Formats: sequence, C-alpha cells, structure tokens
Amino acid sequence: MNFWILVLALFLEASVVLFSQNTQKPKNIIILIGDGMGISYVSTSILQSPDSPFRRFTTTGFSVTCSADNLITDSAAGATALSTGYRTKNHYVGVDTIGNTITNIFEVAEKINLSTGLVVTSTVTHATPAAFVSHVISRNEETKIANQFLDIDLDVVIGGGAKYFFQYDSIKGCTHFDELKSKQYTIFQSADELTACIPDNKFYALLELESFKKANERNYSLAELTYKAIQFLSKNENGFVLMVEGSQIDWAGHNNNPEEALVEMNDFSQAISVSLDFAENNEETLVLVTADHETGGLALTEGKIDGSELSLKFVTKHHTAEVVGVFAFGPGSEQFNGINDNYIIGRKLIQLINPYFNFS
Ligand SMILES: [Zn+2]
Repeated sequence: MNFWILVLALFLEASVVLFSQNTQKPKNIIILIGDGMGISYVSTSILQSPDSPFRRFTTTGFSVTCSADNLITDSAAGATALSTGYRTKNHYVGVDTIGNTITNIFEVAEKINLSTGLVVTSTVTHATPAAFVSHVISRNEETKIANQFLDIDLDVVIGGGAKYFFQYDSIKGCTHFDELKSKQYTIFQSADELTACIPDNKFYALLELESFKKANERNYSLAELTYKAIQFLSKNENGFVLMVEGSQIDWAGHNNNPEEALVEMNDFSQAISVSLDFAENNEETLVLVTADHETGGLALTEGKIDGSELSLKFVTKHHTAEVVGVFAFGPGSEQFNGINDNYIIGRKLIQLINPYFNFS
C-alpha cells in the first residue's frame, strides 16, 4: 500500500472511532412534547409522586423557546424549531421566515428508511403535529395541512381530526381516507378497534372528528395509544422516530383550569412512563421530553407536604417566555444537558439520526 494512502486510512479510521466514542447514536427516538408544559406543570408530577417518570431521566436541561420574531412563541414556531432545527415566525409551520419549505426530522428519517409516527390528543393537523409533517404559512390552514399528510409516508398516525380526512378531493375523485386505503394503510376509527389488535400494517387511527375529549372524559389514554405506536414502529430493524404530544396541557393553561392541568399532565406522564419502559429494555432508544413553551404563567402556591391538594394559580391566559425543561434518557441523551435554544434541540435530534445532515 502506498505510504500516504496508509496514513490517510489510519487517520480516517481514527476519526470514526473518535466520533463513535463521543456520540452514541440512538436507533430510535421518541420525542414527547407537552404543549405549554412549563416547569410548574412538571413540578406537579414530581411533587405528587416519588414514581414520577420525570425522576427517571438521566439528563436534564432547559430550552429557550423564543420564535424568530417574538420573545413569546406560539406552538407553530415552537414545534417548527424542534422538528426542523430552524426558528421561524409565529404561525408559520415547517417553513422559514420567508416562507421556504424546510426539511423536518420525519423527512430526514424517511430518507434513511426509518419508520415515523405521531400520537397526539388534538387534531393531527394542529400546529405541533403539523410541524412534523407539513409546510404552510399559516397554522390555520388545517385542510391544506391534511392534504400534505398524503405526501409523506408516515407509518403511524394517531389523534383527532378525522373530519379533514373525510373531505372529498374533487381532483383526485376520492376522500383522503380512500386514498390512504389505496396506499395500503389500515384505518381505525375507534380506540377499541385499535387497542384490541396488534397492528401489523401501517395505520391511521383518527379517533374523533375534532380533537380528543379531555383525558378524564375518554376511555383510552395517551399511554395506551403510545404503546400501540411503539409496538408497531419497533418492528423496523432500521429504527424509528415517534412524536407524542400532550396537546391539551396548553388548553388547560389557556383556560386557567387547575383540574384540567392536573388531569392532562397525568395522562401525558403515563405516556412518558410507557416510552421509558420501552427504552430501558431496548437500550437503543433516546427518549426526549420537552415543551414548545409555557402557558398561563402557572405557579404552585399551596399544598400538603406529600404533594396532594396542590393549589395552582395562573397569571395570564396566554403563553409566556419562561424557559421550559428538557429531559433525556438513552443513547445521545448527554447532548441535551444545560441550556439550549429550541432550534438547537431540533438540530441535535436530526443529527443524531443523520450525522451528515447539513444546516445552513
Ligand atoms: Zn403550544
């Protein structure tokens, strides 16, 4: 072997070893977003139970949630930062500040044959899930967002918003559900149907015409649905990326409703537990929990020493600029230590599945 080729080969080998020692690459990533879930919301879970799933994380940090044009982000810009690694303007979904499409983590994952899925308690076309799927100037364009679900080969879609998929497309001459069936998707329209079976085919489970009912008014939990998603997605030997959203924590904040906040946090916490249980067994899965922003300026002002009878007070009906928590477990988790801007978290997630992905 030519001397210089040998030197080059040794150098390349050394750099690969260095890279693999520094960064453990997860096979699977589960991103759980508590919409509006500021630190006080997380505190309710931690104070109420020694078994709170938040206590199980090995890495904790903070995320700075500002958008490109506002100290106080909305969910569209907040989720876009996490899904694409770029800050954008409030109301923009999956596009940059001048409206250009930006690649999201699901698109990166699909390119390298990972499975992708989402589980939310809002409509699947709502701002947060939309940022993982679509590219529109306004989060309010839910019909257009639904159309764009047909352009990406998601493996699991669970949430509300069936009404957008019953719409008749006069150009294609069918509804979105018809088109999904022709693309070999199984369609579930009730949680009972879904939880009774072990899915062996990619599927859409749109369980309500609009959003889900509140967690204490439905007979299925976010945790059960998350389990179903993981059960199917983990069949892919290449790995998967799953996004789970506790969508209605935010709505409790906007409503300044303490009971709703506790109920939705409990529902979301159980979904975190299911994800951590899987990751602890699997050992190749990164679980990352964060929020897009805080809602309501929540404070815990009274309660018993065991965390019961908590009194929750809100100072606003809107979002706030408070930093939010970041909780990570599994390979790559150490990357999320300390204080990160929201879009940096998005970049790190994308580069954990594709280290060669370039950000401008
Ligand atoms: Zn939000």
